[in-house]
Order: sequence, then C-alpha cells, then structure tokens
Amino acid sequence: MTPAEIIGELFAGPGAREYLGEPVTIGTHMLQAGALAEAAGAEPPLAAAALLHDIGHLRGEADNRHGPAGARWLSRWFGEAVTEPVRLHVAAKRYLCAAEPGYFGLLSAESVRTLALQGGPMTPDEQAAFEALPYARDAVAVRRWDDAAKAPAVTPPGFAHFAPLLAVLVRT
Ligand code: FE
Repeated sequence: MTPAEIIGELFAGPGAREYLGEPVTIGTHMLQAGALAEAAGAEPPLAAAALLHDIGHLRGEADNRHGPAGARWLSRWFGEAVTEPVRLHVAAKRYLCAAEPGYFGLLSAESVRTLALQGGPMTPDEQAAFEALPYARDAVAVRRWDDAAKAPAVTPPGFAHFAPLLAVLVRT
C-alpha cells in the first residue's frame, strides 16, 4: 500500500469515530482543516500538516501525546515541513492562550478541557522558546485551522481529494 492508502484507511476507519465532545467526526474535522488550509493558499506541506494534524488521534494516542506521536509516525514518509506543525499544534494552542488576548475565548469547551491535561497556557520562557522554533508560525497556522474545523454544517472534500497532495510530498 502507498502512504496515501495507509492514511486513507485511518480516515475511513478510526476517522469515522465521534470526536469526543466535538460536533463533527475526527476525520471530518481533519478534512475541514485541510480544506481551510487549501482555501487560504497554504503551501502543499502546510496544507498536508493541517489535514494530518490529528493523525495521532486516529492511531489511538491520548490528548497530551497525539502531536508528537503523530509527527513521529508521519516522519517515515514526510519531511519536517509536514511533521513539525503536526508535532507542535498542541504547543501552539498553549502558546496562543498565553500570547494572544482573546484566543482562549475562541476555544471549544473540549479544547479548554484538554488544555489543562496538555500543560495549560505557556509561561513567558516557554513562549520565547516556542517562537524560536523554525516551524512555530506554521504550527500556529495549523492551530487556527484546527480551531475553525469543527463546523457541523460544512461538508469538506473527501480524503481522495487530498491523496495526490500527499503522494507528491512523500520523500523518495
Ligand atoms: Fe484537531
């Protein structure tokens, strides 16, 4: 199987599960995030990161681990432009809670609940360390699409729409 086929099976199987506390399935949530990134004109690796940001959840990882675990799994096929925003998308939530007035108020109830498990808002030292990371801005972008991708009335394109995007990004 190709990487896109393997990932597609995760979307079709575990992706059809309810996303605990959210109004859309986890797969629909990820497809919405990918579609928002495309609509915003994101470069292909960043659009793929948005699409794949919760792949750790599809592989059964817990809330506080799903970013790094998902990124590690994806790194067998994809470079850092894809994996780093995935790895950092939970850190980006903690960052935005500290750095941006008003951001916390935009979070879903479930996202507020998991924030505590994930370490809460960043300290000033943590914020500075995060900002120095090469993919910090991309992680923040993924995070904003993540937060917006919980709309029950929106039907995103199916996984097949994104398969060619993933195929060109696989390292050879
Ligand atoms: Fe998400």
